Amino acid sequence: MFLSIFDIFKIGIGPSSSHTMGPMVAAGKFLDQLLEHKIKAVSLSASLHGSLAFTGKGHHTDYATIMGLIGFKPQTFNSNVAQQALDEVSQTGKIQPEGHSEYLFNPNTAIRFDFEKSLDGHANGMIFYAYDSIGTILFEETYYSVGGGFVQTASELASGISHSKLKNTTPYPFKNASEMLEMCVSTGKSIAELKSENEQANINKSDLSQGINKIWDVMNNCIEEGLKKEGILPGGLFVKRRAKGIHESLRKEQSRNIAPPHIINDWMSCYAMAVNEQNAAGAQIVTAPTNGAAGVIPATLRYYLDHVPSASISKIPEFLLTAAAIGGLIKNNASISGAEVGCQGEVGSAAAMAAAGLCAILGGTPQQVENAAEIALEHHLGMTCDPIKGLVQAPCIERNGLGAIKAVSAASLALRGDGIHLVSLDACIETMRQTGIDMNSKYKETSLGGLAVNLPEC
Ligand code: SF4
Repeated sequence: MFLSIFDIFKIGIGPSSSHTMGPMVAAGKFLDQLLEHKIKAVSLSASLHGSLAFTGKGHHTDYATIMGLIGFKPQTFNSNVAQQALDEVSQTGKIQPEGHSEYLFNPNTAIRFDFEKSLDGHANGMIFYAYDSIGTILFEETYYSVGGGFVQTASELASGISHSKLKNTTPYPFKNASEMLEMCVSTGKSIAELKSENEQANINKSDLSQGINKIWDVMNNCIEEGLKKEGILPGGLFVKRRAKGIHESLRKEQSRNIAPPHIINDWMSCYAMAVNEQNAAGAQIVTAPTNGAAGVIPATLRYYLDHVPSASISKIPEFLLTAAAIGGLIKNNASISGAEVGCQGEVGSAAAMAAAGLCAILGGTPQQVENAAEIALEHHLGMTCDPIKGLVQAPCIERNGLGAIKAVSAASLALRGDGIHLVSLDACIETMRQTGIDMNSKYKETSLGGLAVNLPEC
């Protein structure tokens, strides 16, 4: 199945692609289905299951679902306008999404966290209901938020039908890294060139270029905004924003020329932390490939632009296209969802994508790029997801910094080799998939194990 760069890198809102963006998208799809099936409903509700129930409060899943039912979309979400709309719904007890009649809707009771019943298809399940005037269900649909803001109905998930409206007919339909490398060898093209030509089956070159520039603008803006803000992040953990302070101290040291070489790691960390602090605060974000892992790729690219001699912004598209190609392979052959395979699928995937992108723009061959992605992913295998209080803050914020550091190391190591290596990227992706299946559900975004239960109450 073809995954576009704009599927992998989606502009949306924090704090979670699967728990915030996905439910908002699902609510919008449910509204579309009501119109499509001409359902004359009087009221609406939804239930949240599995990981969406266990960590939904911390991820604002109920809020995002309500906003989706009101008619908001992640790409254009404006928190000020949304708050006004929510206040109005709270007063009137009614919603009227565009194109629909009014529905009765009590935001305090219409969204139910169901901690008892997990749904069979995926850890992130939700069911939407439409009722008549006496409360009989007229229509219901089950959706799964499968990571990175992707949403499928139960039947789409079961049948493996593509949730994308994009054409699957591309000039280079590689399904795994081995096929991708064979196509690079047979055509003499880079991974980014193959990916770009595949994209152009659905979009013209100019729109592709503009879209990629927009992705980087939002990513970079997220770094810039995060580096300006201070204070305590929302959610009740009282996590202090640190990116701004670290950045300021780094800049002071820079002007005094006293810095030891290892502080380059702090630069990468502060870029990544700036993004993930913004994400935790519910700001605009680009999934890369998820919200929880959204800092790794921007931090790696910003490291390149700010710290690598002779870096050029002209390389940004090559970086992002290469990273998107690797993200597509991981999503199609394993998972990018913390609820499905743990954090190896989120920060691990992001690090593999970033390593590949950096290796490519530093002049790596396709074989070295594949090696870079493999090294970065291999050393995240088994990493669990156990966010404290279900908030995408600890361990997530610092973890993105460490993900970027591993990505840069992986790219650098791969560039020192000739691309020939023992463990292939395909084998590593399959290992991640199997490790995810074997992983106890306590470590798959339920906050029932790990750090989430070992922090003393204060
Ligand atoms: S621990 Fe990793 S997978 Fe889990 S919420 Fe945080 S970033 Fe996402």
